[in-house]
Amino acid sequence: MGERAIEVKGLRKSYGDVEAVKGIDLHVDQGEVFALLGPNGAGKTTTVEILEGYRSRTAGEVGVLGHDPAKHALDLRRRFGIVLQSTGVDPYLTVRETIEMYSGYYAKPRPADGVIELVGLAEKRDTKVSKLSGGQQRRLDVAIALAGDPALLFLDEPTTGFDPSARRNAWEIVRNLTAIGKTVFLTTHFMDEAQYLANRVAVISKGEIVAEGPPDTLAGRDRMLARIRYRLPAGAPSLPEWGQAPVGDGSYEMRAEDPTKTLHDLTGWALDRRIAFEALDVTRPTLEDVYIELTGGEEGSE
Ligand code: ATP
Repeated sequence: MGERAIEVKGLRKSYGDVEAVKGIDLHVDQGEVFALLGPNGAGKTTTVEILEGYRSRTAGEVGVLGHDPAKHALDLRRRFGIVLQSTGVDPYLTVRETIEMYSGYYAKPRPADGVIELVGLAEKRDTKVSKLSGGQQRRLDVAIALAGDPALLFLDEPTTGFDPSARRNAWEIVRNLTAIGKTVFLTTHFMDEAQYLANRVAVISKGEIVAEGPPDTLAGRDRMLARIRYRLPAGAPSLPEWGQAPVGDGSYEMRAEDPTKTLHDLTGWALDRRIAFEALDVTRPTLEDVYIELTGGEEGSE
Protein backbone atom coordinates (compact mmCIF):
# COMPACT_ATOMS: atom_id res chain seq x y z
CA MET A 1 0.00 0.00 0.00
CA GLY A 2 1.01 3.61 -0.18
CA GLU A 3 1.94 4.24 -3.79
CA ARG A 4 -0.79 5.20 -6.18
CA ALA A 5 -1.87 2.73 -8.85
CA ILE A 6 -4.36 5.25 -10.25
CA GLU A 7 -4.54 9.02 -9.86
CA VAL A 8 -7.23 11.14 -11.48
CA LYS A 9 -7.57 14.92 -11.15
CA GLY A 10 -10.28 17.10 -12.62
CA LEU A 11 -11.31 14.51 -15.20
CA ARG A 12 -13.93 15.72 -17.67
CA LYS A 13 -15.55 14.05 -20.63
CA SER A 14 -18.16 15.54 -22.92
CA TYR A 15 -19.99 13.85 -25.76
CA GLY A 16 -21.21 16.83 -27.77
CA ASP A 17 -23.52 18.69 -25.43
CA VAL A 18 -23.64 15.89 -22.86
CA GLU A 19 -21.12 16.34 -20.06
CA ALA A 20 -20.85 12.73 -18.88
CA VAL A 21 -17.99 13.26 -16.39
CA LYS A 22 -17.81 16.65 -14.70
CA GLY A 23 -14.37 17.12 -13.20
CA ILE A 24 -13.82 14.14 -10.91
CA ASP A 25 -10.87 13.40 -8.63
CA LEU A 26 -10.06 9.91 -7.46
CA HIS A 27 -7.12 7.74 -6.54
CA VAL A 28 -6.48 4.05 -5.97
CA ASP A 29 -3.56 2.90 -3.83
CA GLN A 30 -1.50 -0.13 -4.77
CA GLY A 31 -2.89 -3.31 -3.29
CA GLU A 32 -6.32 -1.81 -2.78
CA VAL A 33 -9.72 -2.99 -4.04
CA PHE A 34 -11.51 0.15 -5.18
CA ALA A 35 -15.16 0.08 -6.27
CA LEU A 36 -16.80 2.72 -8.44
CA LEU A 37 -20.55 2.71 -7.80
CA GLY A 38 -23.31 4.63 -9.51
CA PRO A 39 -26.65 4.36 -11.27
CA ASN A 40 -27.00 3.67 -15.00
CA GLY A 41 -25.64 6.53 -17.04
CA ALA A 42 -23.69 8.05 -14.12
CA GLY A 43 -20.37 7.97 -15.99
CA LYS A 44 -18.71 4.75 -14.76
CA THR A 45 -17.96 3.16 -18.14
CA THR A 46 -16.73 6.49 -19.49
CA THR A 47 -14.34 6.86 -16.54
CA VAL A 48 -13.09 3.27 -16.67
CA GLU A 49 -12.52 3.32 -20.40
CA ILE A 50 -10.53 6.55 -20.11
CA LEU A 51 -8.37 4.83 -17.47
CA GLU A 52 -7.94 1.84 -19.77
CA GLY A 53 -6.95 4.06 -22.68
CA TYR A 54 -9.98 3.17 -24.81
CA ARG A 55 -11.56 6.65 -24.73
CA SER A 56 -10.08 10.10 -24.91
CA ARG A 57 -10.77 12.71 -22.24
CA THR A 58 -11.91 16.29 -22.62
CA ALA A 59 -9.82 17.62 -19.71
CA GLY A 60 -8.00 16.63 -16.55
CA GLU A 61 -5.00 14.55 -15.50
CA VAL A 62 -4.93 10.77 -15.44
CA GLY A 63 -2.13 8.49 -14.26
CA VAL A 64 -2.39 4.69 -14.38
CA LEU A 65 0.63 2.81 -13.03
CA GLY A 66 2.50 6.08 -13.46
CA HIS A 67 1.58 6.60 -17.14
CA ASP A 68 -0.95 8.65 -19.03
CA PRO A 69 -3.27 6.18 -20.79
CA ALA A 70 -3.95 8.74 -23.53
CA LYS A 71 -0.28 8.58 -24.54
CA HIS A 72 0.84 5.06 -23.61
CA ALA A 73 -2.29 2.97 -24.06
CA LEU A 74 -0.62 -0.02 -25.68
CA ASP A 75 2.32 -0.17 -23.28
CA LEU A 76 0.01 0.24 -20.35
CA ARG A 77 -2.41 -2.45 -21.43
CA ARG A 78 0.43 -4.94 -21.20
CA ARG A 79 0.78 -4.00 -17.53
CA PHE A 80 -2.81 -4.24 -16.41
CA GLY A 81 -5.50 -6.86 -16.95
CA ILE A 82 -8.99 -6.33 -18.25
CA VAL A 83 -11.53 -9.07 -17.87
CA LEU A 84 -13.36 -9.44 -21.17
CA GLN A 85 -16.00 -12.00 -22.14
CA SER A 86 -14.34 -15.14 -23.51
CA THR A 87 -15.82 -14.62 -26.95
CA GLY A 88 -12.53 -14.88 -28.84
CA VAL A 89 -11.25 -18.00 -27.05
CA ASP A 90 -10.71 -21.16 -29.10
CA PRO A 91 -13.32 -23.67 -27.79
CA TYR A 92 -11.13 -26.66 -28.74
CA LEU A 93 -8.20 -25.68 -26.54
CA THR A 94 -8.04 -26.88 -22.94
CA VAL A 95 -7.97 -24.46 -20.03
CA ARG A 96 -4.24 -24.95 -19.66
CA GLU A 97 -3.52 -24.53 -23.38
CA THR A 98 -5.57 -21.34 -23.41
CA ILE A 99 -3.66 -19.77 -20.52
CA GLU A 100 -0.33 -20.88 -21.98
CA MET A 101 -1.24 -19.27 -25.28
CA TYR A 102 -1.97 -15.95 -23.58
CA SER A 103 1.14 -16.25 -21.36
CA GLY A 104 3.16 -16.42 -24.57
CA TYR A 105 2.26 -12.79 -25.34
CA TYR A 106 4.08 -11.50 -22.26
CA ALA A 107 7.71 -11.15 -21.33
CA LYS A 108 7.11 -12.08 -17.68
CA PRO A 109 3.94 -14.16 -17.48
CA ARG A 110 2.61 -15.70 -14.30
CA PRO A 111 3.04 -19.51 -14.40
CA ALA A 112 -0.09 -21.01 -16.01
CA ASP A 113 -0.73 -23.56 -13.26
CA GLY A 114 -0.65 -20.87 -10.59
CA VAL A 115 -3.12 -18.73 -12.53
CA ILE A 116 -5.46 -21.70 -13.02
CA GLU A 117 -5.32 -22.42 -9.31
CA LEU A 118 -5.99 -18.79 -8.36
CA VAL A 119 -9.30 -18.81 -10.22
CA GLY A 120 -10.31 -22.24 -8.92
CA LEU A 121 -10.08 -24.14 -12.21
CA ALA A 122 -7.39 -26.66 -11.19
CA GLU A 123 -9.77 -29.60 -11.65
CA LYS A 124 -10.68 -28.38 -15.15
CA ARG A 125 -7.09 -27.86 -16.26
CA ASP A 126 -7.35 -30.40 -19.08
CA THR A 127 -10.98 -29.72 -20.01
CA LYS A 128 -11.79 -28.11 -23.35
CA VAL A 129 -13.17 -24.58 -23.16
CA SER A 130 -16.36 -25.69 -24.94
CA LYS A 131 -17.10 -28.07 -22.05
CA LEU A 132 -16.92 -25.40 -19.31
CA SER A 133 -20.06 -24.07 -17.63
CA GLY A 134 -20.90 -20.37 -17.96
CA GLY A 135 -19.46 -19.63 -14.51
CA GLN A 136 -16.29 -21.58 -15.28
CA GLN A 137 -15.86 -19.63 -18.51
CA ARG A 138 -16.06 -16.40 -16.55
CA ARG A 139 -13.27 -17.73 -14.31
CA LEU A 140 -11.26 -18.46 -17.41
CA ASP A 141 -11.79 -14.83 -18.47
CA VAL A 142 -10.23 -13.73 -15.18
CA ALA A 143 -7.40 -16.23 -15.66
CA ILE A 144 -6.69 -14.80 -19.13
CA ALA A 145 -6.53 -11.29 -17.66
CA LEU A 146 -4.04 -12.61 -15.09
CA ALA A 147 -1.81 -14.44 -17.56
CA GLY A 148 0.58 -11.50 -17.95
CA ASP A 149 0.81 -11.11 -14.14
CA PRO A 150 -0.61 -7.56 -14.17
CA ALA A 151 -0.21 -5.31 -11.14
CA LEU A 152 -3.68 -3.86 -11.71
CA LEU A 153 -6.90 -5.55 -12.77
CA PHE A 154 -10.09 -3.92 -14.03
CA LEU A 155 -13.24 -5.88 -13.19
CA ASP A 156 -16.38 -4.52 -14.79
CA GLU A 157 -19.52 -5.85 -13.08
CA PRO A 158 -17.77 -9.18 -12.50
CA THR A 159 -20.76 -11.07 -11.07
CA THR A 160 -23.70 -9.80 -13.11
CA GLY A 161 -25.84 -12.80 -14.02
CA PHE A 162 -24.19 -15.15 -11.49
CA ASP A 163 -26.14 -17.37 -9.11
CA PRO A 164 -25.48 -16.74 -5.39
CA SER A 165 -22.84 -19.42 -4.96
CA ALA A 166 -21.03 -18.42 -8.16
CA ARG A 167 -20.95 -14.84 -6.82
CA ARG A 168 -19.37 -16.05 -3.59
CA ASN A 169 -16.77 -17.99 -5.60
CA ALA A 170 -15.99 -14.89 -7.65
CA TRP A 171 -15.56 -12.89 -4.47
CA GLU A 172 -13.08 -15.47 -3.19
CA ILE A 173 -11.11 -15.11 -6.41
CA VAL A 174 -10.89 -11.36 -5.87
CA ARG A 175 -9.73 -12.00 -2.30
CA ASN A 176 -7.05 -14.35 -3.69
CA LEU A 177 -5.88 -11.54 -5.96
CA THR A 178 -5.50 -9.06 -3.13
CA ALA A 179 -3.69 -11.67 -1.06
CA ILE A 180 -0.95 -11.67 -3.71
CA GLY A 181 -0.80 -7.87 -3.79
CA LYS A 182 -2.84 -7.05 -6.90
CA THR A 183 -4.74 -3.79 -7.19
CA VAL A 184 -8.36 -4.16 -8.30
CA PHE A 185 -10.58 -1.50 -9.85
CA LEU A 186 -14.14 -2.77 -9.68
CA THR A 187 -17.42 -1.47 -10.98
CA THR A 188 -20.56 -3.04 -9.62
CA HIS A 189 -24.26 -2.47 -9.09
CA PHE A 190 -24.27 -4.79 -6.06
CA MET A 191 -23.77 -3.02 -2.75
CA ASP A 192 -23.10 -6.26 -0.86
CA GLU A 193 -20.29 -6.95 -3.33
CA ALA A 194 -18.73 -3.54 -2.73
CA GLN A 195 -19.19 -3.97 1.02
CA TYR A 196 -17.50 -7.38 0.99
CA LEU A 197 -14.65 -6.65 -1.39
CA ALA A 198 -13.75 -2.98 -1.44
CA ASN A 199 -11.31 -1.16 0.80
CA ARG A 200 -12.72 2.07 -0.57
CA VAL A 201 -15.65 3.02 -2.75
CA ALA A 202 -16.61 6.15 -4.65
CA VAL A 203 -20.19 6.90 -5.63
CA ILE A 204 -20.61 8.70 -8.93
CA SER A 205 -23.91 10.35 -9.78
CA LYS A 206 -24.58 12.42 -12.89
CA GLY A 207 -20.88 12.68 -13.63
CA GLU A 208 -19.83 13.81 -10.15
CA ILE A 209 -18.33 11.95 -7.20
CA VAL A 210 -20.85 12.45 -4.41
CA ALA A 211 -19.10 10.39 -1.73
CA GLU A 212 -15.85 8.51 -1.29
CA GLY A 213 -14.41 6.39 1.51
CA PRO A 214 -14.36 2.95 3.14
CA PRO A 215 -17.76 1.19 2.82
CA ASP A 216 -18.23 1.10 6.59
CA THR A 217 -17.93 4.83 7.05
CA LEU A 218 -19.18 6.14 3.69
CA ALA A 219 -21.07 9.42 4.03
CA GLY A 220 -21.01 9.19 7.83
CA ARG A 221 -22.77 5.81 7.78
CA ASP A 222 -21.07 4.76 11.01
CA ARG A 223 -22.41 7.85 12.77
CA MET A 224 -26.00 7.39 11.61
CA LEU A 225 -28.56 6.35 14.17
CA ALA A 226 -29.00 2.64 14.83
CA ARG A 227 -32.50 1.23 14.47
CA ILE A 228 -33.82 -1.01 17.25
CA ARG A 229 -36.95 -3.05 16.56
CA TYR A 230 -38.85 -5.33 18.90
CA ARG A 231 -42.24 -6.90 19.53
CA LEU A 232 -43.98 -7.41 22.84
CA PRO A 233 -45.12 -10.92 23.74
CA ALA A 234 -48.86 -11.45 24.20
CA GLY A 235 -50.16 -10.21 27.56
CA ALA A 236 -47.13 -8.01 28.29
CA PRO A 237 -47.68 -4.68 30.08
CA SER A 238 -47.61 -1.49 27.98
CA LEU A 239 -44.24 -0.08 27.11
CA PRO A 240 -43.10 3.11 28.80
CA GLU A 241 -43.75 6.21 26.74
CA TRP A 242 -40.12 6.52 25.49
CA GLY A 243 -40.25 3.07 23.94
CA GLN A 244 -43.59 3.36 22.22
CA ALA A 245 -43.21 3.95 18.52
CA PRO A 246 -45.30 1.39 16.64
CA VAL A 247 -44.32 0.62 13.04
CA GLY A 248 -47.41 -1.11 11.77
CA ASP A 249 -46.75 -4.85 11.89
CA GLY A 250 -47.06 -5.05 15.68
CA SER A 251 -43.39 -4.06 16.10
CA TYR A 252 -42.00 -1.01 17.81
CA GLU A 253 -38.99 0.91 16.63
CA MET A 254 -36.49 3.30 18.22
CA ARG A 255 -33.64 5.26 16.66
CA ALA A 256 -30.68 5.29 18.98
CA GLU A 257 -27.68 7.58 19.05
CA ASP A 258 -26.17 5.41 21.77
CA PRO A 259 -27.57 1.90 21.15
CA THR A 260 -25.72 0.41 24.13
CA LYS A 261 -27.55 2.72 26.51
CA THR A 262 -30.90 2.50 24.73
CA LEU A 263 -30.75 -1.30 24.68
CA HIS A 264 -29.82 -1.30 28.35
CA ASP A 265 -32.89 0.83 29.19
CA LEU A 266 -35.12 -1.27 26.99
CA THR A 267 -33.98 -4.72 28.06
CA GLY A 268 -33.76 -3.55 31.70
CA TRP A 269 -37.42 -2.58 31.52
CA ALA A 270 -38.29 -6.00 30.05
CA LEU A 271 -36.21 -8.05 32.49
CA ASP A 272 -37.70 -6.19 35.48
CA ARG A 273 -41.10 -7.40 34.26
CA ARG A 274 -39.83 -10.90 33.39
CA ILE A 275 -40.71 -10.61 29.73
CA ALA A 276 -38.61 -11.22 26.61
CA PHE A 277 -38.97 -9.11 23.48
CA GLU A 278 -39.76 -11.00 20.33
CA ALA A 279 -37.75 -10.43 17.16
CA LEU A 280 -35.35 -7.98 18.84
CA ASP A 281 -33.14 -6.54 16.13
CA VAL A 282 -30.49 -3.81 16.00
CA THR A 283 -29.38 -2.55 12.58
CA ARG A 284 -27.26 0.23 11.13
CA PRO A 285 -27.96 1.74 7.72
CA THR A 286 -26.48 -0.56 5.06
CA LEU A 287 -24.22 0.59 2.24
CA GLU A 288 -27.27 0.27 0.01
CA ASP A 289 -29.32 2.60 2.26
CA VAL A 290 -26.54 5.20 2.06
CA TYR A 291 -26.16 4.71 -1.69
CA ILE A 292 -29.88 5.23 -2.35
CA GLU A 293 -29.78 8.35 -0.21
CA LEU A 294 -26.71 9.70 -2.07
CA THR A 295 -28.03 9.02 -5.55
CA GLY A 296 -31.53 10.18 -4.70
CA GLY A 297 -32.97 6.78 -5.64
CA GLU A 298 -32.30 7.88 -9.21
CA GLU A 299 -32.79 5.03 -11.66
CA GLY A 300 -30.37 6.40 -14.17
CA SER A 301 -30.63 8.81 -17.00
CA GLU A 302 -30.63 6.31 -19.83
P1 ATP B 1 -24.24 1.96 -16.86
O1 ATP B 1 -24.31 1.63 -15.41
O2 ATP B 1 -25.60 1.96 -17.49
O3 ATP B 1 -23.23 1.16 -17.64
P2 ATP B 1 -22.41 4.25 -16.78
O4 ATP B 1 -22.33 4.81 -15.40
O5 ATP B 1 -21.34 3.34 -17.20
O6 ATP B 1 -23.83 3.53 -16.96
P3 ATP B 1 -21.69 5.85 -19.10
O7 ATP B 1 -21.83 4.74 -20.08
O8 ATP B 1 -20.34 6.30 -18.75
O9 ATP B 1 -22.51 5.50 -17.77
O10 ATP B 1 -22.55 7.08 -19.67
C1 ATP B 1 -22.56 8.37 -19.06
C2 ATP B 1 -23.36 9.33 -19.93
O11 ATP B 1 -22.69 9.55 -21.16
C3 ATP B 1 -24.75 8.82 -20.32
O12 ATP B 1 -25.63 9.93 -20.33
C4 ATP B 1 -24.55 8.27 -21.72
O13 ATP B 1 -25.75 8.36 -22.45
C5 ATP B 1 -23.48 9.19 -22.27
N1 ATP B 1 -22.62 8.48 -23.24
C6 ATP B 1 -21.84 7.40 -22.99
N2 ATP B 1 -21.14 7.03 -24.09
C7 ATP B 1 -21.49 7.90 -25.08
C8 ATP B 1 -21.10 8.06 -26.44
N3 ATP B 1 -20.22 7.24 -27.00
N4 ATP B 1 -21.67 9.06 -27.12
C9 ATP B 1 -22.55 9.90 -26.57
N5 ATP B 1 -22.95 9.82 -25.27
C10 ATP B 1 -22.43 8.84 -24.53
